[in-house]
Amino acid sequence: MARYTGASCRTCRRENLKLFLKGDRCYSDKCSFERRAYSPGQHGQNRFRKVSDYAIQLREKQKVKHMYGMLEKQFRRYFQMADQAKGVTGENLLVMLERRLDNTIYRLGFASSRDQARQLIRHNHFTLNGRKVNIPSAFVKPGDVISLKEKSRKNEIIIDNIEGAARRGVPSWLELAQQNFQGTVKALPNREEITLPIHEQLIVELYSK
Ligand code: SF4
Repeated sequence: MARYTGASCRTCRRENLKLFLKGDRCYSDKCSFERRAYSPGQHGQNRFRKVSDYAIQLREKQKVKHMYGMLEKQFRRYFQMADQAKGVTGENLLVMLERRLDNTIYRLGFASSRDQARQLIRHNHFTLNGRKVNIPSAFVKPGDVISLKEKSRKNEIIIDNIEGAARRGVPSWLELAQQNFQGTVKALPNREEITLPIHEQLIVELYSK
């Protein structure tokens, strides 16, 4: 599966926002954004650059794309699906991104980042409704149950993640039964529950040009 392999911290600095791409490091004083909260590169500290509408829309799209760890082709395909679905396109897009299995596992606290969630899924640590699953982009739906496999319940990385997840909290559309290593999708997320600083209308405007 193709994925972005560039420097994650540089992306946060470029987007001028903490995107939490590196798990625990993002919550520590090693976070590059905390130490250098300006764009990377020679002109990164130039605060008086003129920014066009197009540039603002483009940056918003890039920010969301990086946040969910997606590449352009796949992201654009999601947008087309969101556009064809009933309802508000921007909201549809965000709900689809949230419903990805890798995001759901990250949100439940089994992984410290979406990137790590993708890796854990690919390595067969989870089941979906009792069945083997190794596709990070699979969509979850209400009633789905995600379980950590029996053999993975002693995995120290995952145990640490679950213990550390308390500081992030589990969103209200999910339910975590920590003692059973199980998460349930209670409902589809709605826009109010996606509290990330995203202006999805800018992405709609960009792709509608
Ligand atoms: Fe972004 Fe995390 Fe790197 Fe901080 S540590 S700059 S939040 S990826």
